[in-house]
Amino acid sequence: MALKHVEKQVDKILKKGELAEVVEPVRLERDSRFHFRCHPGVSCFTRCCRNMNIILTPYDIVRLKNRLGLTSDAFLKLYAQPELLGITRLPVARLKMRAEEGGRCPFVTENGCLVYTDRPVCCRYYPVGLASLRQQERHAGEEEEFFFLIKEDHCKGFEEPTEWTVDSWRADQESDLYDRMNREWMELLLRKRSFGEETELPPKARRLFYMVTTNTEQFRRFIFESRFLDTYVVKEKTLKKILDDDVALMQFGFEYLKHAIFGADSDVIEIRKDVLDKTVKQIVKRREKRRRKLQKLARGRK
Ligand code: SF4
Ligand code: SF4
Repeated sequence: MALKHVEKQVDKILKKGELAEVVEPVRLERDSRFHFRCHPGVSCFTRCCRNMNIILTPYDIVRLKNRLGLTSDAFLKLYAQPELLGITRLPVARLKMRAEEGGRCPFVTENGCLVYTDRPVCCRYYPVGLASLRQQERHAGEEEEFFFLIKEDHCKGFEEPTEWTVDSWRADQESDLYDRMNREWMELLLRKRSFGEETELPPKARRLFYMVTTNTEQFRRFIFESRFLDTYVVKEKTLKKILDDDVALMQFGFEYLKHAIFGADSDVIEIRKDVLDKTVKQIVKRREKRRRKLQKLARGRK
């Protein structure tokens, strides 16, 4: 089961570099031990699966829509609502709670989570949070990871005798896989965050970011059925892979966004030389035109 506020706590950490009140002020190592078990026998079973603030990562969406046998379009329509994420102001998909049913999660049943093995990252990591020094200390440039427990009073799972180490818990939750899959998306969020809250992406770039990070089928059509490949050079091997592999496509999408929106170099995608030359010429022409206009104005004032 999951816990509300987990995302909020992570967001707080990202926003302020502070650990909030439900986070135990104890730094855990990989071999640190704790007791926890969530199962139908606990008195609070499924109670936390309502009114949660769950931001779906791109990998969450791929796992969930494939688990449910839905296209991304159908999944997003039924289960997600877009929003701009906190200080990053980047568009993300939030899991829609059922307001008309007391705010319950659409996947909760009396027997537990309907999508348990594919549930979103913020549900599956609970109660072990992960932080990194680089996220908290902007200028450190290092990435020392550490863990902490997120404990809410109403959660009876901590009273259970089952003992875990941080490592055994994370292995049980496929945390390493999820960390790996989400890392580059987090990098994009952090990259944007470093520009500051006041630097908004243009609406077109925001729409592109949302499409690439939430909708694999639409992104695939964008690559193979638009003029995308007239603009970018992508290796044949990569193209073959992303044609029917959602995870490979998602990872390609991160590289594309890094390159197209944030101007970073990429080993897997580059703009075609003729397109680049043409764009450079257009920019030079526009600047020259602007310079001449300013000169004319200045002469008129004399
Ligand atoms: S996805 Fe599953 S674990 Fe997460 S809130 Fe919904 S029912 Fe609970
Ligand atoms: S034990 Fe904790 S995580 Fe499980 S249902 Fe109860 S409150 Fe939620």
